[in-house]
Amino acid sequence: MTLNTLSIAEARDLLRRREISARDLTMSCLAAIDTSDELGAFVHRTPDIALDQARAADARLAAGEAPAMCGIPVGIKDLFCTRGVASQAASNILGGFRPEYESTVTARLFEAGAVMLGKLNMDEFAMGSSNETSCYGPAVNPWKVDDRRLTPGGSSGGSAAAVAADLCLAATGTDTGGSIRQPAAFTGIVGLKPTYGRVSRWGIVAFASSLDQAGPMTKTVRDAAIFLQAIAGEDAKDATSAALPVPDFEAALTGDIRGRRIGIPREYRMDGMPAEIERLWSEGAAMLRDAGAEIVDISLPHTKYALPAYYVIAPAEASSNLARYDGVRYGHRATLGPGEGIVEMYERTRAEGFGPEVRRRIMIGTYVLSAGFYDAYYNRARKVRALIRRDFETAFAEGIDAILTPATPSAAFELGAQASADPVAMYLNDVFTVTVNLAGLPGIAVPVGLDAQGLPLGLQLIGRPWDEAGLLAHAHVLEKAAGFVAKPARWW
Ligand code: GLN
Repeated sequence: MTLNTLSIAEARDLLRRREISARDLTMSCLAAIDTSDELGAFVHRTPDIALDQARAADARLAAGEAPAMCGIPVGIKDLFCTRGVASQAASNILGGFRPEYESTVTARLFEAGAVMLGKLNMDEFAMGSSNETSCYGPAVNPWKVDDRRLTPGGSSGGSAAAVAADLCLAATGTDTGGSIRQPAAFTGIVGLKPTYGRVSRWGIVAFASSLDQAGPMTKTVRDAAIFLQAIAGEDAKDATSAALPVPDFEAALTGDIRGRRIGIPREYRMDGMPAEIERLWSEGAAMLRDAGAEIVDISLPHTKYALPAYYVIAPAEASSNLARYDGVRYGHRATLGPGEGIVEMYERTRAEGFGPEVRRRIMIGTYVLSAGFYDAYYNRARKVRALIRRDFETAFAEGIDAILTPATPSAAFELGAQASADPVAMYLNDVFTVTVNLAGLPGIAVPVGLDAQGLPLGLQLIGRPWDEAGLLAHAHVLEKAAGFVAKPARWW
């Protein structure tokens, strides 16, 4: 066994017993990365930083001072600002940008002793569900059918591919409308989106600020608990981070969910849902029932309006957030011809720097916020959002502890298959995940089975606000019952 295949929990225990060193663990991941160019997962590698951090981690471990993430090699989504290290959000407009500061998430990981292997591929500015909008070209799913190259999902596609292929023990992701959970489901790993406000957004390139949340992408539910512990909690630099105590998430994994009430929302049973997804969902419910939970049919009546509301609100916020990329403050600046001035500079920089999907979002967002259409689109979408939130509040008030749904409407699809010819087809990937962001709730994708082609399928559990501990406890039981141990056959 090579060390890079370990989970965080396994590596932590071996490191603490001094049976392995952070250096050997890091070298094993660096070697795996060096032979995985075909996956396109890492877009910037930082071996020197990794080896320095591993040395420091080994010193802490030798001194007996070892937080859980000490010496654990991780990959960082390119959306996180890392001091002195290229942070481009997979966009040409941030070409050459090296932040002067560290995001709170990465700063907390480093304080806890984690080792950064490099920056991970993603959809440009986290807009997409297939990693195909990246300025670097897509990351590729390590799972393959015949010789077809599949998407790892998006926007955290590089993170998912890297964890699934054992290039790192875990990775950061961000989730505005499903970007942690959908790629996790497509690659057979665990992805957790915390409650909005549980994790600081400071230093993460903003997409839609009222929806964005960072979280762990890991091989196991236990690892998600350990990783979340390191990054969660109030941050003075993010006014939307919550001043709430952070519980011991790993201690919540008791294996006992007897008497818990799990809701099955009837509106998620969509027309045309593949039979395999339907079956997986029923099997997942049966697993939780066998563990002593009560399965309850519930209604979330406004579900069908979630996708359109999301695709108004997210572009609206994005059009505002992305106004700052003007060629003056960050990254790329267009060269000007004779007689051209600042207006041409702004226009040309933005036309050159942003890819087609990002431009589409900026135009949709500007349109729905414009004076004549603000009430018809943006305000209406905000009202729908409030109703969606109320649906969940009602379910929780009626004693539901967690909600079980499919994570995605399909398994991973072929790269190119849903590309930009039909953007709406791509948006449909988010049908089960966007409600959670609109309502600010925690959600987790857990790998549960394989489809007929041998590709991973995941289920999603949605929790009460701030109840990541309970959510992880349910997910842990589901994970154990499903016993998903499949790994992609190595071809890269
Ligand atoms: N696929 C969704 C979008 O394109 C979600 C992206 C995300 O969660 N960052 O907006």
